[in-house]
Amino acid sequence: MKYLLPNVPFHKACLHAHSNISDGKLSPEELREEYKARGYSILAITDHSVMVEHQALSQPDFLMLTGVEIDLDIYSDRFGEGGRRERHLCLIGKDPKKQWIPYTDPRPIPSSVPYEATNEIAGMSRLGTTENTNLVIAECNRQGFLVIYNHPTGSGDRYPDYCDLQGLWGMEYRNGDTIAHGADENNGRVYDDLLDLGHHLMPVCADDTHGIISKRNGYPTLDMNWNMVGTEKLDYDSVIAALERGDLYASCGPEITSLTLDGDTLRLTCSPADRVQMFSNTGAHVLVHGNGGTVTEAIFKVPPKTKVYRDAYLRFIVTAPDGSYAVTRAYWSAELQP
Ligand SMILES: [Zn+2]
Ligand SMILES: [Zn+2]
Repeated sequence: MKYLLPNVPFHKACLHAHSNISDGKLSPEELREEYKARGYSILAITDHSVMVEHQALSQPDFLMLTGVEIDLDIYSDRFGEGGRRERHLCLIGKDPKKQWIPYTDPRPIPSSVPYEATNEIAGMSRLGTTENTNLVIAECNRQGFLVIYNHPTGSGDRYPDYCDLQGLWGMEYRNGDTIAHGADENNGRVYDDLLDLGHHLMPVCADDTHGIISKRNGYPTLDMNWNMVGTEKLDYDSVIAALERGDLYASCGPEITSLTLDGDTLRLTCSPADRVQMFSNTGAHVLVHGNGGTVTEAIFKVPPKTKVYRDAYLRFIVTAPDGSYAVTRAYWSAELQP
C-alpha cells in the first residue's frame, strides 16, 4: 500500500501573514502567539518587500519560516488607461538564515516609512510581464526560495496572465485577505489550468492576515485558511523537505486524515464531510456523498485513462456541511501506478 499523504504527524501551517514590519497590525511575536493559540505549529511571516528571518521566535513546538511577499507591476488598459495592478509572489526561504532581496532603499525595521519605497527586486525590474516575472521567479529559485503565486483572482489575473508562468512551487488556491476585500478567491480553475499545462505545483490556502480581522471591513482573516504539512520532525530542514515533496494539503475547514493507494483502490478518510470529489484532467469525475448525512471515508478506483496518459493527474476535494473545503495536491500518473 502506498501513502499518498504520508503516515506521519501533520502540522497546521500559515504560509502567508503580515506583521507590523509592513502593513499588518500585530507584531511578529503577537502573530506567533495568535497562531499558536489556534493549534498552528508553522508560521511564515511574509511582510511586503522586507525579508526578515524570525528564527529567534522559533520554539521546540513552533517553527518560523523565513519569507517575504514581493510585488511586480502590471500595466493594462483593462484597469483604465495606463492602469496598473500588482502581481504578488510569496517567497519561502529554504535556508532559515537567508535574507535576500537587497533593496536599493534599505529601511529601518520595523519600518515607520512607507514599505513600498523601492523600484527594484534584487536589482531586477519590477515589471510584471510574463517574461520579467519568469526572470524574477528563476532568480528566486536560484537563491533558494520556494515561490508561491498569490491571489490570482484578487490581482485581476486571467488565463493569458498566468498560463506561461514558470518555476512556481505553489499557488494560492484560496486567500483570506482578498476574500475579505470581496474577491471570489477560490482558484480551483486556475489550479487546474496550471496543472494541465504540466506544472507540478502545490495548493496553498492562506490567511494573508493583516490582523485578526480585516482592516477594511472587520471580516475575520486569521485562522480561516491553512496548509497541513506532514513531517515527523518539526525542524526547518524537515519542513522544507516536506513542502518540496508535497506532503501536504490545504484547507479552510475539513481535515483529511489519510489518503492511500492499494492496487487500483484509492481510499480517503476525513472529518465528517458532505461530499468527497475525485477528478482528473482526463475527464473522470467521481462524487461520494453522505446522502443527507456525512461521510468520513471515500473509496475510488484509479480511472484507467490516468494510468496511460503520462500527464494525467488526479486530485481530491473534501467539502464539509458548512461549505468549507480541503484540497489535496495533484497526484500524477507516475505516482498512481500500482
Ligand atoms: Zn498580496
Ligand atoms: Zn500578503
